[in-house]
Amino acid sequence: MTAPCYLCGEPSVLDGLCQNCYNKDHPLIEFSSPLSIETCKRCGSVNMPGGWKIISPTSTEDVKEEQVGILLDREIKPLVEGVSLTLEEVNRLDRVLHLNVRATGRSDPSLDEHDEEYPLEIRFRHSVCDMCSKISGGYYEAILQIRADERLVTEEEETAITNIAKERTISAYGKDDKAFILDIMENKYGFDIYFGSTHLCKRITDELESRYLAERKDNYKLVSQDRGGKGKYRTTILLRLPHFVIGDFVEVSGKICQVLNISKGGLACYNLPDGERITVSKKSAKWRTVKFIAEESSKQAFTVVSNVYGQPLQIMDSVSYELKELEHSELTEGLEPGAVIHLLNHEEKWYILPSLPSSGERAS
Ligand SMILES: [Zn+2]
Ligand SMILES: [Zn+2]
Repeated sequence: MTAPCYLCGEPSVLDGLCQNCYNKDHPLIEFSSPLSIETCKRCGSVNMPGGWKIISPTSTEDVKEEQVGILLDREIKPLVEGVSLTLEEVNRLDRVLHLNVRATGRSDPSLDEHDEEYPLEIRFRHSVCDMCSKISGGYYEAILQIRADERLVTEEEETAITNIAKERTISAYGKDDKAFILDIMENKYGFDIYFGSTHLCKRITDELESRYLAERKDNYKLVSQDRGGKGKYRTTILLRLPHFVIGDFVEVSGKICQVLNISKGGLACYNLPDGERITVSKKSAKWRTVKFIAEESSKQAFTVVSNVYGQPLQIMDSVSYELKELEHSELTEGLEPGAVIHLLNHEEKWYILPSLPSSGERAS
């Protein structure tokens, strides 16, 4: 026979209390109401102790729900382990949200699970976060200028570079409150990207520099000086893409080559006189011998007329229909009559060109 609960007289189960009275005396959660929350009216981030907390830019969820989640993660304290929470919206106004908070759990491991419900009022204050006020104030620390050597920056290059810059900026979002691109401005020769953060601009430049085998020049300009004599600098980085693009002809150590790929690993090309693939790293001595010769468009198309073992390859110029004979190489193997090949005429010599991947693949 158990003693009765000292509060209500029901049979007691724990500490002289019945289950109900014990639960009432030992709530599952604790929070204060009303709570207030400061949010950015431009980007939705939430002002928390320690700085503005960003709403994930890819979020498809209700922004307000995510903001409330950030707030309640911090404000609702579970008092026992294993409590689950359910939030129910009761009423939503622009600046006030009424929720019903339901907690489910056990006040003590020896007791049954139960629910508790509490009303919660959240008051919103709309302001502008540090990042958004920088953006609206036109703040930037660094400009990355993308140009190309003796040619215009191509549309594919512009799209690819802009995408890399945007992706890296989004990944830094939330870790760096200056991780934003203020503007992208096109001009006659290329385009300029305005970065909120010098640090981010440099990191992206490092990546593009090696990815595109580009030449780089960093400039610092003093824009202002505070009373203590400490200067504020603005960085301008010029990234010059090589004159050649994939498919173009270059000279490497005096040999004519066709560019097959441009990547972090270096310049991959086909050495036409020697019939071999080579890769030139930007750090190698050979790199300094690389010279632009001609655009891919200077190649000529020919149709294979006959390819017989022991005899020269017979081909026909696709424009003038003139016939030509060519020595065999690894590139002429298995060519059937009717096949189209491309040749380059350079310093009185004809070279067969390797077949390049389609331009769609080249862009990657
Ligand atoms: Zn009781
Ligand atoms: Zn904001």
